Amino acid sequence: MMTQLEQAIKRTPALKEAAYYVESVLEETIRRTPGEVEFHQSLKEFLPSIVPAIAAHPEYIRLGLLERLVEPERMITFRVPWIDDDGHVRVNRGYRVQFSSVLGPYKGGIRFHPTVNTSIMKFLGFEQIFKNALTGLPIGGGKGGSDFDPKGQSEFEVMRFAQSFMTEFYRHMGPDIDVPAGDIGVGAREVGYMFGQYKRIRGGFEAGAFTGKGVGYGGSLVRKEATGYGCVYFMDEMLRTRDKSLAGARVVISGSGNVALYAAEKATALGATVVAMSDSDGYVVSEEGIDIQRMIQLKEVERRRIKEYLEYDDRAVYYPGSRGIWTVPCEVALPSATQNELDLEDAKALVLNGVWAIGECANMPTTLEAIEYFMANDVLFAPGKAANAGGVAVSALEMAQNSMRMSWTAHEVEDQLRHIMHHIFRQALTTAAQYGMPGNLVAGSNIAGFIKVAEAMIAQGVI
Ligand code: NDP
Repeated sequence: MMTQLEQAIKRTPALKEAAYYVESVLEETIRRTPGEVEFHQSLKEFLPSIVPAIAAHPEYIRLGLLERLVEPERMITFRVPWIDDDGHVRVNRGYRVQFSSVLGPYKGGIRFHPTVNTSIMKFLGFEQIFKNALTGLPIGGGKGGSDFDPKGQSEFEVMRFAQSFMTEFYRHMGPDIDVPAGDIGVGAREVGYMFGQYKRIRGGFEAGAFTGKGVGYGGSLVRKEATGYGCVYFMDEMLRTRDKSLAGARVVISGSGNVALYAAEKATALGATVVAMSDSDGYVVSEEGIDIQRMIQLKEVERRRIKEYLEYDDRAVYYPGSRGIWTVPCEVALPSATQNELDLEDAKALVLNGVWAIGECANMPTTLEAIEYFMANDVLFAPGKAANAGGVAVSALEMAQNSMRMSWTAHEVEDQLRHIMHHIFRQALTTAAQYGMPGNLVAGSNIAGFIKVAEAMIAQGVI
């Protein structure tokens, strides 16, 4: 079926020219980056949706904006040698993609997971540019990580690895250059070890060089909760547009890491029942609602597997295999684990079971086919670039507090977070309507973020 936009492109010469430009940049970029499938996927989701913005600004074509935008300003890879507890030398690869510094210092998390590669770094870095632009705060886009797997390593192995990673990476970062934070496999513990090593090498306490720090040494209150809370605030706003609410809704949340746990906490606080959560081994269903504080204790504090939640809740059931979670009936689904965890088949199961709304708390958790299916079936869809921007927004607030050498109360930070999420939602909604795609928050957030970045790029010349 042809979308409204595809029909308009056929009729309107300016749209036709913009679509041709976008298609040629997409094809050429794919040709020049063979095998980077996740990066290609994020380009395929982003580029076609901004055709109306290019048509409205034909000068972007002459200025080669997209050709510049799809090429990272800098891509760093490096060797990370470390010694395990048995005295064996191990080697991992470290990455940092410094994608765009047009709005501020590069900003984005560091991921430690065995799947990390150039493609995953580039998709995450590319998404980060527009997400950060949407927050309205002065931060550019970047992302980093390593194929190191912290799972199953001892405390000292994680520390030695983190220190070795920083011993190379420190030279590329700083409070006005590049400010990393956590992501999958990188929480307060790993940030602490990396920040400690950075501080030692630099010989000074540059608090603003890292975010997601412990609150005792320059971290912000509510940073840990910010991505999950922010995503739920966004969902709350989105549901209101259809006179629906989280109160009384059944919610399924994939993952049980930082983002998932605090999305579950806030959804529960707003009256929802979180009926299922997962980790990479399987998922737990509790029809009466998962006890979130117990889950936080199990996953965040004790670092155990989700299966062991059954010790606390004898009505809960465990199912091996994390993908099955989308067959659990719910009104709201929050994919909060990893990329491409929700595909077309999962989308069909969710729609069949009467889902109202999907919120991408994770980055690119939904495949392109699944997004199209949700939209075609009138399911509300909150794209990750907008819905999970709360984490980086509070990271920017952490930087602001570090610069002022002050700290705000939890109430003050959460208030600002709520305000920022409201603003992001409104921007996405009004931009979608302005460009002729009412209700399409994917297009609305992509275009709103893109225009900000594009205008700053033009103002700063060809760099
Ligand atoms: P965590 O490492 O804290 O948690 C990740 C969770 O997802 C774990 O429960 C993990 O299970 C599960 N998971 C990871 N990989 C897979 C997989 N391949 N299949 C199934 N489950 C998997 O990470 P975060 O919560 O920080 O990040 C989750 C998502 O949110 C990511 O997409 C991240 O990029 C995104 N995000 C995070 C932000 C933040 O502030 N932390 C900000 C914005 C987005 P297991 O423990 O078994 O591996």
